[in-house]
Amino acid sequence: MLNGIRLGKIFGIEIEISYSWFFIFAMVTILLTFGIFPEQFPNHSLLVNIILGLFTSVLFFLSLLFHELSHSLVANLNKISITKITLFIFGGMAQMSEEPKDPASELKMAIAGPLSSLFLALIFYLLYKLLLGIGLPSPYYASFTWLWEINLMLAIFNLAPGFPLDGGRVFRAVLWMFTNDMDKATKVASKTGQGFAFLLMGVGFLFMISGNLGGIWFILIGWFLYQSAVTSYQQLLLQHGLADVTVNEIMTDKVETVSPEITLQDLVNEKFLKFRFGRFPVVDGDNLLGIVTLHDIKEIPKAKWESVTAGQVIEGLDEPMYVKRDDPAVNALMKMASEEIGHLLVVDSENHLVGIVTRADIIHLIKLKGELRA
Ligand SMILES: [Zn+2]
Repeated sequence: MLNGIRLGKIFGIEIEISYSWFFIFAMVTILLTFGIFPEQFPNHSLLVNIILGLFTSVLFFLSLLFHELSHSLVANLNKISITKITLFIFGGMAQMSEEPKDPASELKMAIAGPLSSLFLALIFYLLYKLLLGIGLPSPYYASFTWLWEINLMLAIFNLAPGFPLDGGRVFRAVLWMFTNDMDKATKVASKTGQGFAFLLMGVGFLFMISGNLGGIWFILIGWFLYQSAVTSYQQLLLQHGLADVTVNEIMTDKVETVSPEITLQDLVNEKFLKFRFGRFPVVDGDNLLGIVTLHDIKEIPKAKWESVTAGQVIEGLDEPMYVKRDDPAVNALMKMASEEIGHLLVVDSENHLVGIVTRADIIHLIKLKGELRA
């Protein structure tokens, strides 16, 4: 699954930019070139503003990268591994493979981002004052007038107490320290985050009805934050809810299988049209031979369906297509998410097919557990 373009590695952390990022890069460049710079420096030529717009946008995105790298480096120092940073439409995101194990690490990791933005704001402000002070013409310092402000705004915005923003993470770490209960702390931080998101959307809405179209940004960011607050809390519940459940406990042991001798014509009539699944496991007795998919059948000319058998067209069984019955259920869920499939075959230690597990089974279990706990 490719969501963006890999730029390379810094300190062993992979840097990726999402495709949505190109959109925001173009927006920022246009805003600077045709909006902000012409207004602030009416004496600049268009060419100067285009160059300044591009230069400033690049520095802006390097600022975002610097912010994310600060989080990641502090995380790695605290033994929380960060493997990838993705820059996307609303900034950046460092991908954590695990949640921090103690509130002190979380606090340090979260605060590193806003501090790095504050640091950049100070550097850009000093550069601006220095270049202005030694009497250079405005194109030399124009970028920095905007960059110090935007980095200051980034620091302040990120400090808002809406989980999973940095401020929300700081807030959660403090709650966690006092209550000693990560679940409860996350719940409160997530609710606060949702509240903050609604506040932003409300402000955006007020801007819109008073004729300021910039309000749409508050609504978009608010909506995005709301989604993040909800999903990050759900993810945590998921991990905890599935903590010691194995695939064996939630799988269905009745699986519709086919024999390798069945012809494609019979397969279509008796299985695909009847059950409407997209694929069937092919088994010989107990032995799982592979999977036959509708896609495989479509590759074969219809005239041959009477003579070709399932055994002749099956795909080799890829490891990602199945799980062992003793695997943790959370692994199965991760596998389905990363392979973008809704179900997995379950095999025992001798690779005999014993069942099938679907995403719906897992979601059902989590809901049930949630209801029992509440
Ligand atoms: Zn941050």
